[in-house]
Amino acid sequence: MNNMSHIRSPMLPEDEAALLDSIQKWLDKDVRPVVKHHDHGDIWPEAVVAQMTRMGLFGATIGEEYGGLGLPAQTYAKIVMMISSYWMALTGIFNSHLIMACAVERFGTVEQKRTWLPRFASGEVRGGLALTEPNAGTDLQAIRTVARKDGDHYVLNGTKTWISNSINGSCFALLAKTDPQADPRYKGMSFFIAPKGEGLSVGKKFDKLGYKAIDSAELHMEDYRLPAENLIGGVEGQGFFQATGGLELGRINVAARGVGIAEGALRLATEYAQIRETMGKPIVEHQAIQLKIGEMVTNARAARLLTLDAAAAYDRGERCDMEAGMAKFFASEAAVSNSQEAMRIFGGYSYSKEYEIERFYRDAMLMCIGEGTNEMQRIIISRQWVKRNPA
Ligand SMILES: Cc1cc2nc3c(=O)[nH]c(=O)nc-3n(C[C@H](O)[C@H](O)[C@H](O)COP(=O)(O)OP(=O)(O)OC[C@H]3O[C@@H](n4cnc5c(N)ncnc54)[C@H](O)[C@@H]3O)c2cc1C
Repeated sequence: MNNMSHIRSPMLPEDEAALLDSIQKWLDKDVRPVVKHHDHGDIWPEAVVAQMTRMGLFGATIGEEYGGLGLPAQTYAKIVMMISSYWMALTGIFNSHLIMACAVERFGTVEQKRTWLPRFASGEVRGGLALTEPNAGTDLQAIRTVARKDGDHYVLNGTKTWISNSINGSCFALLAKTDPQADPRYKGMSFFIAPKGEGLSVGKKFDKLGYKAIDSAELHMEDYRLPAENLIGGVEGQGFFQATGGLELGRINVAARGVGIAEGALRLATEYAQIRETMGKPIVEHQAIQLKIGEMVTNARAARLLTLDAAAAYDRGERCDMEAGMAKFFASEAAVSNSQEAMRIFGGYSYSKEYEIERFYRDAMLMCIGEGTNEMQRIIISRQWVKRNPA
């Protein structure tokens, strides 16, 4: 079922450098000047999304045979780090879309791949992942959305919440129970390709602390009819495995976002500490500030290395839930720690929206929650570690 389509060779260093250089130029010219406008106003960045579509970012990790860029996770992670070092939220617009695509590419039928992947890769159809429900986040097996078979269709009823891209996206990889009585519970779960249509409506949009400009809202299903051919892989009961399988790439992505925030906060703090003077010298010459910067540099570097290590294991097709979990855990905590330390270095100005550091501070905490909370990451890391090291 899992065709290992995600196994990829590393890019040639010169090709990767050219690609990253073009992303840096785009960030400098088209993204950095508009970040504050979109972040402060919580405004969907339509023009930037159109540019990302033209650059092929919505097909970044989708295979070339389906019109995607076919990038290895290592290069993809470096792109996400670079973008997130200026504006993390932007990466959420293509990341959860790519996790949806990843589920279809790894677990879908030949027909599903042929039908959906080219449309996902071109950005013609964009979307995300619909797993979480009001009563079920960490405990995914507690979801209550039911998909009842009715001839050659499924009829879905339930509510999803906190779904990224739910307003501006048009299709979701959606987890539901095809057998609510199954024991164990995961055996009754199935994953669907769910395009917007009659019976699937968008509910309340969340007003968030950070992660602005990208839409997070509820999705309601009321007798929402889906053709049976939209069941990913065509076999019921595989959904939990398929949804959590895609989370390895999702965790590498969140780790990469954490690295970006940690590096971005370090960059801003480094610049500021050399300009701001107290007691007749730049604050960077005070030992208290040097201690902070020393710790921030180390955090950012370690987070980057852990993330690239997990991405390399993913590209080799190895099981990497432990590596992706360690990267996600460490890099997200590095994002929180570096953005907080940078706030202190900026002193009172950190509290002004004229400066950018407050956005890093608001965005960082989400990295500890999304794609599995850091409490769960540590449990996953520990279990996998013990399994690999039996007494
Ligand atoms: C901005 C944003 C965007 C999101 N985007 C999406 C999206 O696109 N698609 C989607 O499906 N979901 C999305 N989510 C939901 C996100 O994945 C969940 O919030 C997350 O999985 C945590 O679930 P929860 O909020 O229900 O917390 P809970 O599961 O209620 O957890 C609450 C606390 O209890 C701890 N906890 C729970 N169970 C255990 C346990 N067994 N052992 C130890 N500690 C435990 C948790 O670590 C946490 O600290 C998004 C959330 C946010 C905030």
